[in-house]
Amino acid sequence: MPYIVGLTGGIGSGKSTVAEQFVKLGAALVDADVVARQVVEKGSPALAEIKTYFGRGILTESGELNRGLLRELVFANEQARHWLNNLLHPLIREEMQRQLGQQQSPYVIFAVPLLIENRLNDLCDRILVVDVNPETQLARAARRDKNKLEQIRRIMQAQISREQRLAFADDVIDNNQELADSQDSLQRQIANLHLLYLRLAEEKKQ
Ligand code: ATP
Repeated sequence: MPYIVGLTGGIGSGKSTVAEQFVKLGAALVDADVVARQVVEKGSPALAEIKTYFGRGILTESGELNRGLLRELVFANEQARHWLNNLLHPLIREEMQRQLGQQQSPYVIFAVPLLIENRLNDLCDRILVVDVNPETQLARAARRDKNKLEQIRRIMQAQISREQRLAFADDVIDNNQELADSQDSLQRQIANLHLLYLRLAEEKKQ
């Protein structure tokens, strides 16, 4: 296994923005959101099981998973939610481990919104938290997703608190500064962490 840096933070905190910068510096990226989509892609065994459980109506006309409908169905039905989690969580974890193990870069950024909630921190050598104050988080997520304020607030409440997340952090990126005002602060923090991770990865090999 390469050296694994778990990257997490609340909704709209800037995980994708930060991950992109690490990739520019040469890190490989394994993204939990991408893996979660891959395990249910068209033709996958998991999608076949979902179709058997929920019926054909869970697929779009082109045979893809209708994610919006699935979300509604499991939101309204606890038994279905358990069934789905039991199916997907082990598959997602296994696929994440496979992808992490395949990377050839000195270290891997493993971006996971619910890293701590889903106990994926045990796959990581180091935990990096992107931190912003809740007002900024809400404003940025709302600006990106267009005025779904209530929905964003609900998601924020379902995620662990800022304090709980920070308690797991080995490193913290402060992303409160607006990028439009200065890209320097974020870039400097990421460049310093990149050097640290190169060193820690080298130490792990020895
Ligand atoms: P999610 O978990 O919701 O997918 P995320 O943590 O990956 O979010 P991003 O998508 O990187 O967060 O950032 C949320 C939004 O805020 C994006 O539109 C992004 O461009 C913007 N953003 C991120 N950081 C800053 C910043 N420092 N200044 C201004 N805008 C920012």
